[in-house]
Amino acid sequence: MKYHLSTLVFLGIYTMSSCSYSEENIKKEVSNHLIMDSHTLSNYKELPIKHSHLDLEVDFENKLLRGSVTHNFNEDRDTDLLILDSKHLEIDSVKDHQGDHLNFEFGNFDELLGSKFSIQLYKESKSVTIFYKTTSKSEALDWLMPNQTAGKRFPFMYTQGQSIFTRSWIPIQDTPGLRITYSANIKTPKNMMAVMSASNPQVQHSENSYNFEMKQPIPPYLIALAVGNLQFKSVDYRTGVYAEPSMLDECVDELTDMGKMVDVAENLYGKYDWDRYDVIVLPPSFPFGGMENPRLTFATPTIIAGDRSLVSLIAHELAHSWSGNLVTNATWNDFWLNEGFTVYFERRIMESLYGKDYSEMLALLGYQDLVEEINDLEPDMQLLRLNMLGKHPDDAMTDIAYEKGYFFLRMLEDHVGREKMDSFLLRYFNDHKFKTIITEEFIIYLENNLLNEYNEKLNINEWIFEPGIPANCPKVKSVRFENAASLVDDFMFSDARSLKEKTANWSTHEWLHFIKHLPNNINVDQLRDLDNVFNFSHSGNSEILALWFLQSIKSDYQPAFENLEIFLIKIGRRKFLQPLYLELSKSKKHKIWAKEVYKKARDNYHYVSFNTIDKLLN
Ligand SMILES: [Zn+2]
Repeated sequence: MKYHLSTLVFLGIYTMSSCSYSEENIKKEVSNHLIMDSHTLSNYKELPIKHSHLDLEVDFENKLLRGSVTHNFNEDRDTDLLILDSKHLEIDSVKDHQGDHLNFEFGNFDELLGSKFSIQLYKESKSVTIFYKTTSKSEALDWLMPNQTAGKRFPFMYTQGQSIFTRSWIPIQDTPGLRITYSANIKTPKNMMAVMSASNPQVQHSENSYNFEMKQPIPPYLIALAVGNLQFKSVDYRTGVYAEPSMLDECVDELTDMGKMVDVAENLYGKYDWDRYDVIVLPPSFPFGGMENPRLTFATPTIIAGDRSLVSLIAHELAHSWSGNLVTNATWNDFWLNEGFTVYFERRIMESLYGKDYSEMLALLGYQDLVEEINDLEPDMQLLRLNMLGKHPDDAMTDIAYEKGYFFLRMLEDHVGREKMDSFLLRYFNDHKFKTIITEEFIIYLENNLLNEYNEKLNINEWIFEPGIPANCPKVKSVRFENAASLVDDFMFSDARSLKEKTANWSTHEWLHFIKHLPNNINVDQLRDLDNVFNFSHSGNSEILALWFLQSIKSDYQPAFENLEIFLIKIGRRKFLQPLYLELSKSKKHKIWAKEVYKKARDNYHYVSFNTIDKLLN
C-alpha cells in the first residue's frame, strides 16, 4: 500500500486504538461491515432491509402521499429491534406479517438527520408494515400547481432522494451503504401517470393504479416517483422519453441519440445491467440537471435547447448506470467515487459520439469551473475523500467530486495509457457490480489491479487526501476554445457585427467560452452591441442565458434584467440559481432587487434549491 495511513487515522476512520493499519486490516474492517455511514440513524448493518413494498395514494389536494410500506428482512436475525430513518413523517401504526401491532418509538429530532424510528419486533415477525403519510415538510417531495407545468391543466409531483431525502417520504434505512429491491403500487388521480425508478408503464391506466418492480438491488436514495399528465414515446427498442404531451416531440427530437449512447457506453465498460433506459423530462422547478434514478433518469427541461447541444447531461446520467448505481459510494464521504468516475465515463461517451475536439471542450469547461470553485472552498472541502460528519451530504456536491475526480482518473489514464485504463475500469465495474465501496477499498484495488503491475509510483495520496489541484493535473488544450478566446480580443477592438461570419458554425460551448472570457472592464455599450447582434438576453439555450445574465449583473447591464427576472422565477435548477443570486447579493442595489424577485420565485423551487438560496440571501 502506498498511500499514507496516517491520513486515515487523522480522518478518524479507525477508532480502535489497538488496530494495526495494514491492508489486511482495512479489508477485514470492510468485510466485517465496520465502516459506518454517519448520515443514518438506522441499524442497517445489524438488521438490513432486503426488500420494500410501497402501497401509496397520491393526494394532490392535500399535497401528500398516504399509505404503507412493508419491509422484509432476514428471518434469521440476532435482534428484535428494527431501526429506520424518518423525517417529517406521520406514522399511524406498525404491524408485522401476521397483522399483530408492533410497538415503536422515535428518538430525538435532529435537524440534519431526522429521527431514529425504532420498531420492537416479536420473535416470529417476518416483516413490518408501516402505515403513514408524508407532511408539508417532507423535503424529498415537490408538488407543482397546474400553472407550473407545461400543459397548465394538471398538477405534477416528483421525488428527489439523493442524498438523505428518501427518509422524508419513506421510513427506511436511508443509507447508500444498503442495497434493497423494491416493488410498489401507486394510485393516482384521473388522467395521470405514475413512473418510478423501476419497470414502468408506457400508457396511462384507466383504473389509475400502477404497479412497479425493481428487481436489481439499489440504495434507497435511488427510489424515485413522478406523477403527472405524462406520455411516453420510444426513441429506439430500449430507450424512450416521458414528458408532458405538449413537450414530448420536442424532447424526443432533442434526445434522439440516447440509444447510440447506450451502445457506446456498453462498448466501453460492459453490458447495461438495467434492461431499459428511459428519461423523464420534468417541469422547470427540478433542482438538478439530472438525477440518475435507475432505468429512468429524471432530467431538467433546461437541456432542451432545440439543437441537441446540451445532451452531455444524458451521457452523464446514463454513465451513472455503472458508476453510482452499479458500484455505489458506501458513505457520502466517498461521493467522488460516484461522480468523478461518472464525469470520466460521460466524456468518453461524448468523445466516441462527437469526437475528441468536442469532448475536450467539455473537459476544459470543467477545469475552468474547478479552478473557479476551489477558491471558495475551505481546504477540508477540497479533498476527494471528505469527512462529512455533522454536515449535509449535499454540501459535497462540488466540482471537487466531479472535476477533480475526473482529472484524477485522467491523470491515471495519462500514466498507464488508454488501453490499460479501459481494461482496468471494465474490471472495476464488473468486480464491484451491485456492491458498495469506500475510497480506501478503491485505493487498494487500484494498487493491486493497475499500479503495482506497472510499478507506477504516483501521488495518489496527494490527489485523494490533500487539498488543491496537484501539479500533475493533466493540461487540456482546445483549439476551438483558443479561437473563441481570440475573438474576444477582436471584439474588444471592433464590434459585434464583425464576429458574425467567424462564429457562424460555433457550438454552444464556444459561445460559453467566449462569454466567460469577456473582460471585467467591458462596458454596458459593448454588452448592448453583443446583445443586439446575438440576442443573448433572449437565448433559447439555458447555459448561454445563465452565463450572459451573470455577466450582465457584473456590468449592471439593465436591459437583461427583465428576462433575468423571468428566468429566476421559472427555472429551479440550483446550478443556475446559485451563482446568479450570489452575484446579485454582492451589491446593495442588486440584493434588494434579488430579494423582491425571490419572493415571487421561492414557491417554484424544490427544497434543495430554496434551502441554498435562503442561506445565500439572508
Ligand atoms: Zn452525477
